[in-house]
Amino acid sequence: ISNNSGMQAYWMPFTANRQFKAAPRLLARAQGMYYQSDDGRGVLDGTAGLWCVNAGHGRRRISEAVAEQLDRLDYAPSFQMGHDKAFEFADRLSRIAPAGLDRIFFTGSGSESVDTALKIAIAYQRAIGQGTRTRLIGRERGYHGVGFGGITVGGIVNNRRVFPTLTGADHLRHTHDPDRNAFSPGLPEHGAELADDLERIVALHGAETIAAVIVEPVAGSTGVLLPPKGYLQRLREIADRHGILLIFDEVITGFGRLGAPFAADYFGVTPDLMTTAKGLTNGVFPMGAVFARRAIHDALMTGPENAIELFHGYTYSGHPAGCAAGLATLDIYAEEGLLTRGATLGDYWRDAMHTLRAAPHVIDIRTLGLVAGIELRSRPDAAGARAYEAFVDCFNRGLLIRVTGDIIALSPPLIVERSHIDTIVAQLRDALSRIA
Ligand code: PMP
Repeated sequence: ISNNSGMQAYWMPFTANRQFKAAPRLLARAQGMYYQSDDGRGVLDGTAGLWCVNAGHGRRRISEAVAEQLDRLDYAPSFQMGHDKAFEFADRLSRIAPAGLDRIFFTGSGSESVDTALKIAIAYQRAIGQGTRTRLIGRERGYHGVGFGGITVGGIVNNRRVFPTLTGADHLRHTHDPDRNAFSPGLPEHGAELADDLERIVALHGAETIAAVIVEPVAGSTGVLLPPKGYLQRLREIADRHGILLIFDEVITGFGRLGAPFAADYFGVTPDLMTTAKGLTNGVFPMGAVFARRAIHDALMTGPENAIELFHGYTYSGHPAGCAAGLATLDIYAEEGLLTRGATLGDYWRDAMHTLRAAPHVIDIRTLGLVAGIELRSRPDAAGARAYEAFVDCFNRGLLIRVTGDIIALSPPLIVERSHIDTIVAQLRDALSRIA
């Protein structure tokens, strides 16, 4: 990509280049609920950056903690070494973790967390004498990042089209039925039996070949797809019955998005492994963490033979600056009650979003906590065009939304106030009325 002055950069996803060149959107600053574009306009952040800036932008406490840490200890090797902040951060995380998931493995991103969890699952199965269990199961329309493990279990065929995938992976049918669920606020009442698709996969491949099944409790980046009531419980039961580990990818749902610290808390279903990133450090430092049941940790880490089963770790695992950012982030979450803010504000959010049901093109509205998906009827000649137009229009008028296909996704920082919600809805209504 190049900016207006012709400077080149190569970090943007290649697929975005064409559109980006036509309408560059450069961000210069950020504070609280707002970005500022490089031409000085305020842009209300309806997406918490990329689902990550849960405590809002420009939190001085986090940047000061990072600066202080970098002055004191800028880097520590993650193999055979440690430092106080990594232990303190792991300890603090284990205290807010869903019951039993109190062993923490640090990574550098969501994708690394996913690959780490998948490797842990296979290594653990082997450590307990289940070495034939190497198959990994994902779900259609699941997004698990861009590592090889992540694209293999990911349910977006296009993302793995040109790459070899790990052998043997399979995918559950997804959870969402727009015809049945349109406009019903909250979790769909029907459809828990979709979890029985895991039985089909077990019958097809044999339970003794399957290590784990990974799902986003609420699929985020593919359009905010809410599971039917009871779906995750049922998936847990089926996985247990067949000795299959259950992994929740909480890279988006973790750290308060649904109005509870984690989706596992919200749904009352505890997985065996849980992947996180994004809100872990308020998006300030690239970092992820995998939460594991203690028995899984112990089976892999208690003896030298076992530890060799899982040679794994990253140069930046438990980076001092990341841990400092994360600790300051957890302080803010706790002091401002942000991890449960969506439980109270969620009703206002839901009702406000549902006023858009009469807006042009809208065919479904899904909300939970402080996340929303608004699905538009696609233009027959150009799928995705309507949502993209809304995105450009909103940005130009001062609102950042996210679109995937013809679905608009919203996930504001959890410090959002009712007045911001009103603004988001009013802007969206205007934008929808302007698109063809
Ligand atoms: N899992 C989920 C559910 C995600 O939403 C994402 C990123 N949007 C990832 C994994 C990958 O995270 P990262 O981009 O930090 O690698």
